[in-house]
Amino acid sequence: MRKYVIMGIQGSGKGTQAQLLASDFDLVHISVGDIFRWNVEQHTKLGAQVRRIMAAGELVDDELVESIVRQRLHDHDWNYGFIIDGFPRNVRQAEFFLESFDIDAVILLELADEEVATRVLSRRICAGCGLDYNIVGRLPEESERCATCGGMLVMREDDTPEALAARLRDYHDKTQPIIELFERKECVLHVDAKRGVDVIQDDIRGRLGLRDG
Ligand SMILES: [Zn+2]
Repeated sequence: MRKYVIMGIQGSGKGTQAQLLASDFDLVHISVGDIFRWNVEQHTKLGAQVRRIMAAGELVDDELVESIVRQRLHDHDWNYGFIIDGFPRNVRQAEFFLESFDIDAVILLELADEEVATRVLSRRICAGCGLDYNIVGRLPEESERCATCGGMLVMREDDTPEALAARLRDYHDKTQPIIELFERKECVLHVDAKRGVDVIQDDIRGRLGLRDG
């Protein structure tokens, strides 16, 4: 049984790394973001609640996240373990989590703020179909269009340098105390997230003693 927490700022490739681990080692990938998205799409009661909060321009609070995660963990539907993404959100939740589950490791994807800015500010989405375009490494052509529907490629509304700076500050303020708590338990695996997807995955597997085949 393997139980992991994965942490990292947006743009660090956290979701991708979690999915790769989950699929190859039969771990249940518990993503708070995915649970919320699913509920919104399926128009559940929780989805309606989340939609109301977001429409009011507010953030989903830590308590709501905690109740969702508790319910989800209560399912105990894993045979080989889980990897959780988007939780814990504060020190109290981290303490509860450490007491309730025997966590093997906290995978911390580290990326300098400047690199996050480069990645986030160079991404575009299609205004027509919503497809994500990752254009890191090159400037978008002035007239570039979506290859799928021909729509305009635009920045997300909340991907301005100012909004990003605020999100970075918020991320560091919130996660630093959590990371310090995990550090005291000596279970943090620091991973350099600036490298390629496969290199990072390989590094994580090697250091966690996970080898397929
Ligand atoms: Zn499109």
